[in-house]
Amino acid sequence: MKNQLVLYCQLPVSKPVSRKLVHNKLLEIGLISAINAPTNTVVFPTGLQFNNLVSFVGCSPILNLDSEQAENEFGLAKIEIEIPQASNEEYFLFGENTRAPKCPICSTTINAWRSNLTTDYLIRCSHCNSDIDLKNLAWGKYAAYTCFYIAINGIYQREAIPLDSFLKSLELVFNAEVKYCYLQNRSKI
Ligand SMILES: [Zn+2]
Repeated sequence: MKNQLVLYCQLPVSKPVSRKLVHNKLLEIGLISAINAPTNTVVFPTGLQFNNLVSFVGCSPILNLDSEQAENEFGLAKIEIEIPQASNEEYFLFGENTRAPKCPICSTTINAWRSNLTTDYLIRCSHCNSDIDLKNLAWGKYAAYTCFYIAINGIYQREAIPLDSFLKSLELVFNAEVKYCYLQNRSKI
């Protein structure tokens, strides 16, 4: 079970997001380390400032930050940061924990949204038969429609939140508002 905190840019963006600039910014603020990583690296270890950028809710866990183990002795998954290769396409990210949205036309919860989802990003409401653009549905903090994201592996939903200063520094390189969500076993269409 892979749990992630996903930070993503809210569309529309004024210009394409530069992966290199995002990577450099994350190094500069200390979210990630490994300055000399090859350019095709996608997953990075946490940097020294990780705990000052992401705030854990409740009692502070013994985080699995720099070990070689996938899980530490407390059963916590290793925290790593994924910076995907850039694409200029827009896509929908969701997970096993994504909640059924409500139809904006008839207010019925679209429980069959996964099976009703088309590659045109439309979801048919089983109640009123409207085809709803998934961008017009309220997903809360459990899905994202975006063109660029970074994912922090090993964070359970609502376990931690990114600090405002972290979001602000990302907004400078994303050229867009930055939001976040929690995804369990992420899917992308
Ligand atoms: Zn409906």
